[in-house]
Amino acid sequence: MLIKVDAGKCQGHGRCYALAPGLFDLDENGNALAKDGAVPPDQVELAEIAASNCPERAITLE
Ligand code: SF4
Repeated sequence: MLIKVDAGKCQGHGRCYALAPGLFDLDENGNALAKDGAVPPDQVELAEIAASNCPERAITLE
């Protein structure tokens, strides 16, 4: 599983980072950046929780 954050939709709430700090970084404006690489199996559920809690629907999982 890979995480993608649509920078055009992200509004910098930081909710994803608060829920899954191992899967996201925040830039200097507080916008989320998905960490590179596949989501570790033990963090797949967290990735799904982060995506479903993004108020902008900016996170997609592939
Ligand atoms: S929760 Fe959504 S809008 Fe907020 S920082 Fe994360 S990706 Fe961006």
